[in-house]
Amino acid sequence: MSIAAASLVVGLVVLGLKLVAWRITGSIALYSDAMESIVNVVTAITAFVAVSLAQKPADAALPYGYHKAEYFSAVIVGVVIIVAAILIIREAVTGLFSPELHAASMNGLLISGGATVINAIWAFFLLRFGRKVRSPALEADAKHLFTDVISTGGVLVGLVLAFVTGWAVLDPILAGLVALNILWSGWAVIRDSVGGLMDVATPLPTLKIIREVIASNADGAIEAHDIRTRQAGKLTFVEFHLVVPGIMTVERSHDICDRLEAKLREAVEDIQVTIHVEPEEKAKHSGIVVV
Ligand code: ZN
Ligand code: ZN
Repeated sequence: MSIAAASLVVGLVVLGLKLVAWRITGSIALYSDAMESIVNVVTAITAFVAVSLAQKPADAALPYGYHKAEYFSAVIVGVVIIVAAILIIREAVTGLFSPELHAASMNGLLISGGATVINAIWAFFLLRFGRKVRSPALEADAKHLFTDVISTGGVLVGLVLAFVTGWAVLDPILAGLVALNILWSGWAVIRDSVGGLMDVATPLPTLKIIREVIASNADGAIEAHDIRTRQAGKLTFVEFHLVVPGIMTVERSHDICDRLEAKLREAVEDIQVTIHVEPEEKAKHSGIVVV
């Protein structure tokens, strides 16, 4: 079984336990906690589908590849998050006016605690495994699970407090806090994806490397200008104009392009380069000067 599939099974078990805990207690805070689990499971499934789709090679229908599929999963996740937050806030507002605590609640808290222990163990395993295979995605998953463990822990402590003190109003307040936390993490996912859909430029450190590689490997050319970059998933696209002496043969200028493409591929992972060659009267004297 792959790690992704195992993660999904663990997520479903935890979700099931949290739903049982909510049914037993009728607690709005535990309802919000179960909602957060639903968001996690949906995220895991869409991310899995999107990542496998994004790895498909380019074909005639999508000649630039499938990399942007990953951004669509974020749109789905964003919608699920907003729906979950609205449902929780509705329950929390109702609960604020008529807070109540059910008698059979201690069992529910124990079940929810058990689910959290499972989550914590799995998060710990994911973190160690992710570091071993050097997967930032697995590490990020593990860290996200740890924040869930902490938020559920906070909810449980708050609910125990509510039972001890009899302050039933703590229940909807905790639910509201969980809703805010869900909205916050959803916003981060959406923000990152919108940049990709809008063809955001490559980060500055990478751009600096690209400029340096061009400047020091274009012997024979005069300058490079109009450099444009964009990011699609893990792919980096770069295109620019390369000014050469007008009398240079096509063959020689093409050699320069091939050399630049090879050096850029060495310096930046998953880069795709397009170069437009121009004669010297097109020089702008403001672009990268070849050294
Ligand atoms: Zn030009
Ligand atoms: Zn070529």
